[in-house]
Amino acid sequence: MARTRDDCLKLDAADRFAARRELFSLPDCVIYLDGNSLGAPPRNVSARVTAVVEKQWGETLIKSWNEHGWFHLPQKVGNRLAQLIGAEADSVAVGDSISINVFKVLTSALGLRRNRKIVLSDSGNFPSDLYVAQGLTEFMADGHEVRIVAPEDVAAAITPDVAVVMVTEVDYRTSRRHDMKAITKLAHAAGALIIWDLAHSAGAVQIDLKSCGADFAVGCTYKYLNGGPGAPAFLYVRPELQNMVQPALVGWWGHAQPFVFDLEFVPAPGITRQQCGTQPILSMAALDAALDVWDGVDMAELHAKAKAQCQLLIDLVETQCSRHGLKAAGPRNMDERGSHVSFHCPQGYAVMQALIAQGVIGDFRAPDLIRFGITPLYTSYADIWDAAEILTSIMDGRLWDRPEFMALKAVT
Ligand SMILES: *Cc1c(COP(=O)(O)O)cnc(C)c1O
Repeated sequence: MARTRDDCLKLDAADRFAARRELFSLPDCVIYLDGNSLGAPPRNVSARVTAVVEKQWGETLIKSWNEHGWFHLPQKVGNRLAQLIGAEADSVAVGDSISINVFKVLTSALGLRRNRKIVLSDSGNFPSDLYVAQGLTEFMADGHEVRIVAPEDVAAAITPDVAVVMVTEVDYRTSRRHDMKAITKLAHAAGALIIWDLAHSAGAVQIDLKSCGADFAVGCTYKYLNGGPGAPAFLYVRPELQNMVQPALVGWWGHAQPFVFDLEFVPAPGITRQQCGTQPILSMAALDAALDVWDGVDMAELHAKAKAQCQLLIDLVETQCSRHGLKAAGPRNMDERGSHVSFHCPQGYAVMQALIAQGVIGDFRAPDLIRFGITPLYTSYADIWDAAEILTSIMDGRLWDRPEFMALKAVT
């Protein structure tokens, strides 16, 4: 473990990703540990979006759909993304939000298991995914049911009545990871299909959708992939299933021949049938530009840096702040974690507000977690050292104990 700030500076000097920090626009006086919630902007994004607005939209107008490849941008960006999550070419559709994509893949999956009624998920899943599943099963009103178990009980709960197992790989609170390969295998052995949510995985941990045999996956691009606020999400369908599925949410962008304006829906072959309507091209262009920072990145090496940095943050904070009741949530083995660290912290909300006031940006997750995202492309070891020092001074001096740090904001 690094024992001094100098040790951290040495680690930074030896870090092969250190130079990538220059690719991002980050304010000088901020230690940004919230890239797991909203990634920092890559510097090239602004110029690209301006060019799309002024040159493409401004000068080429509607001809841009053809001349500047707007219509096929979702597929192009999907194929770039596929490489970061170990997916086959033409297996990723970019667009909409995770919540909407959950609806699409869940209805696709249930359509392949019409004799089964159970959607199995766990209490570590992101609530929105569960809400979509509950909304769908209630609407269907035919005995479908969302069964929610504890994360550690998922494997044992995959019984022969389960149609679909729908889980998030990295828990947004504790950072605990599910074993994708093992759970996918169990689901298949029981005749069920699997949907993985990769919101806190893509761009942070090494994912290999193809080799683990996943059927479906969803994820967003505004977290570790730095696509910008509200950036389009993605969904994955295993190639063998693509032409067998029929999502319940369809639209003209998923039609085999959208410009025939057929009155009847005829699904496009492949992943394209998962597209619904017109996509936000400015956001799509921003995401396309944002993905440039990944050129040449080895995801295994990136993941290794994430693990080392998570371990360092846990060690520093627990050494210096356990006397104030701080304790890392989630597994102790870094191989079983994603790329963020949450600490149970009494008065956590006020503590995080005090941190933010001193330029250390993380976030708070109810009931008592202060959460720090580690984005190995631009987080330095010195950042982690400094953040731990500032947190320690806040705890030691009770600097969080001020009324302005207690006032709850709409977004925590
Ligand atoms: C962030 C997150 C989402 C967000 O869903 P949106 O519909 O894109 O807002 C969904 N699932 C998980 C696991 C998340 O962490």
